[in-house]
Amino acid sequence: MNDLIIIGAGPGGYELALEARKFNLSTVLIEKAEVGGTCLNCGCIPTKSYYKNAEFLKSLNKANKFGVNIVDYSFDFKKALDRKDEIVTLLKGGVETSLNKAGVNLIKGSAKLVNKNTVMVDNEMILAKNIVIATGSSPIMIPNFNDALSSTELLALEELPQKLVIIGGGVIGLEFASIFNAFGTKVEVVEMLDKIIPNVDYEVSKRLMAYLKTSGIKFHLNSQALSYDNKKVLIKNKNGELIIECDQVLVSVGRKPNIDGLGLEELDIVFDKKGIKVDENFKTNIDNIYAIGDVNGKNMLAHYATFSGYHVLNHILGVENKINFNLIPASVFTFPEVAVVGLTEELCEGLNYKVHKSLYRANGKAQTMDETDGYVKIITIDDSIVGVHIIGESASVLIHEMSSLMNNGITLKAFKNIIHAHPTLSEIYLNTIEN
Ligand code: FAD
Repeated sequence: MNDLIIIGAGPGGYELALEARKFNLSTVLIEKAEVGGTCLNCGCIPTKSYYKNAEFLKSLNKANKFGVNIVDYSFDFKKALDRKDEIVTLLKGGVETSLNKAGVNLIKGSAKLVNKNTVMVDNEMILAKNIVIATGSSPIMIPNFNDALSSTELLALEELPQKLVIIGGGVIGLEFASIFNAFGTKVEVVEMLDKIIPNVDYEVSKRLMAYLKTSGIKFHLNSQALSYDNKKVLIKNKNGELIIECDQVLVSVGRKPNIDGLGLEELDIVFDKKGIKVDENFKTNIDNIYAIGDVNGKNMLAHYATFSGYHVLNHILGVENKINFNLIPASVFTFPEVAVVGLTEELCEGLNYKVHKSLYRANGKAQTMDETDGYVKIITIDDSIVGVHIIGESASVLIHEMSSLMNNGITLKAFKNIIHAHPTLSEIYLNTIEN
């Protein structure tokens, strides 16, 4: 009998398999499609490859400000597509090599649970002491939008759309909006709620929308997307119905857990439409079966998937778990970037909290980079840092300093004694002023 079977080779599954081998657990990893899962094949990595193209184009647009006169240039979308695909292939090869070197038994096929110790892959029965379900999630599509694209399909598009309508103003929708806007596509976003990226601190969400509008992206908030037919999107809001003409539509209204055909019902594993129910150790209602990453529906981020796998491994090995799942940093790759960790101001309502803010434009390095949009907002309770929200250049990098401090309980007062190199964006933190 194997020590461990993992179903799904996304960042949850393959990272857990590699880690488990370091502790000599005999590990079987089953994948029905491509190693790397959503993140590597049609999520984090391909989008960030396009993001870099977009960033490059944005820099070109202001080259003149830096004394560089560019007479003419064009953007070859096909090259951006090929570059993205090459990066994915390279990284996928890297994961496969690592799994092979580590001695993970990678089996290609669709897995189904048979009993608490057995998984079936194409009629082959595999046994293990522990089973981890890491099957991820898939895009939710909506009725009357048959010809619309999912995020996976948009990433495979070979021609740059002239006009793109995006249904859903969440993280994925806004990242695509920013990228395609920079590529020269006209972008309109339709959102049911009265705000974009609803889980982010409201002030940051409002500021981001203002920046995105300035860059040319059009928003329809409080609007319901009704149908897409013959290159026309029909939406409805308080002003009545509106038709938006376009050549492509992206539906990015959320993702659903991949639970069909896993055999959950037969084993009486508890789940609902959000995902497989797990306890604080990511254990299902069956003692040796766990569910990590997107499939448990608690958090849909790649690093959550990875660290939930590490937590499960510790649990199986009987090692004390020290990973703090209350502090999961998250980044949004828009222009400018947004990054957050901890509580929002809305979540602190009723508590005796303080807000400390610092603007990018007051920072020397930001001025030299001509990246003066945005701010850092630190929320403290009794000087303890409970939330950090950044909108601005390199927010996805800056957030980790604060995340480290928060994980170690360093107060804001103590932080201000830590010398920061000059001139750097990190100094923005030192200048936070109490509101
Ligand atoms: P997945 O990565 O979905 O992997 C699950 C794997 O299980 C798949 O390979 C699937 O084929 C396999 N599988 C499913 N069922 C079976 C079965 N029955 N048998 C065998 N194999 C099976 N997150 C970030 O943190 N940062 C980002 O910048 C980011 N950008 C994103 C951009 C987009 C466009 C999208 C769609 C997502 C993005 N995400 C990002 C989210 C991130 O991709 C997911 O949170 C992450 O991939 C979840 O990892 P996972 O291991 O749980 O599942």
